[in-house]
Amino acid sequence: MPERQASKIKPKQIRAKKRWGQNFLIDANITRKILDCATIQPGEHVVEIGPGKGVLTQALLERKAQVTAIEIDKDLVNIIRSDIDASENTALYKNLTLIQADALRYPFQEIQAPYKVVANLPYYISTPLLFRLLEEKTKITQMVLMLQKEVAERIAASVGSKSYGALSIILQFFTEVQLVFTVSPNCFQPKPKVSSALISITPLKTPRIHVKDEVLFLKVVKGAFSYRRKRLSNALACAGFSEAKINAALLKSNCDGTRRGETLTISEFAILSDALFYLGSD
Ligand code: SAM
Repeated sequence: MPERQASKIKPKQIRAKKRWGQNFLIDANITRKILDCATIQPGEHVVEIGPGKGVLTQALLERKAQVTAIEIDKDLVNIIRSDIDASENTALYKNLTLIQADALRYPFQEIQAPYKVVANLPYYISTPLLFRLLEEKTKITQMVLMLQKEVAERIAASVGSKSYGALSIILQFFTEVQLVFTVSPNCFQPKPKVSSALISITPLKTPRIHVKDEVLFLKVVKGAFSYRRKRLSNALACAGFSEAKINAALLKSNCDGTRRGETLTISEFAILSDALFYLGSD
């Protein structure tokens, strides 16, 4: 593979845009480790969100992935296009579909399945994007994502830890989560203020625990953590459940309403949500 060629728009002419979370990966070793974690097979379809200047994109293509890359910044899309034009290795880029779009608004349902998602994500969209990708979980075989370390820790957190919350429960309910390694700010340019971490998220065929109503389960979990300082019974009341129903459900599920959300396991949330389900709608 030839070295990256000069772009019509030289990288130094492009100033990283803070508002789009542009911290470009400059450590080839980390790039290789991301791809190793994703165990890319030739011909496999990979969706990359935020290809930036194309470092990860090029590495994915070198591993013979079929890549759909979604980038919001027109200047960066032009850099990649210039690289493609300047490259002698036209065969390499024939497997790339480059789209200029906002990933948060992109119709993922139209993407050819199955696919993996590999991305060094802009931090400002990581949580909404994770929820958006979860809606497509039946079509995604694995997500390998570089996130702000604190967000990765929240996703992988166990009950009782200070990072444990709705994000941990919802992700662990639908997927298998593995925090792979942490990454120093020195591996990016410009350097972010915080450390990053690589996380691997593999959607499960069916949720980890069977619940009667997934929408209700999500409402209970989100409700319990919307008011983090509140006790469970108060938090659920704030989330719109009636006092009578909360008390009956807590009794039925043998759960103390003075507990706080962060002390409940995923199973306990499932039992509580099923108890609310059997009590019917308010
Ligand atoms: N993948 C590149 C790398 O590793 O060097 C760039 C990673 S940088 C952390 C995040 C990238 O996501 C930037 O290129 C940024 O322009 C892009 N981006 C930001 N918001 C986006 C959005 N809503 N949709 C698609 N791309 C976005």
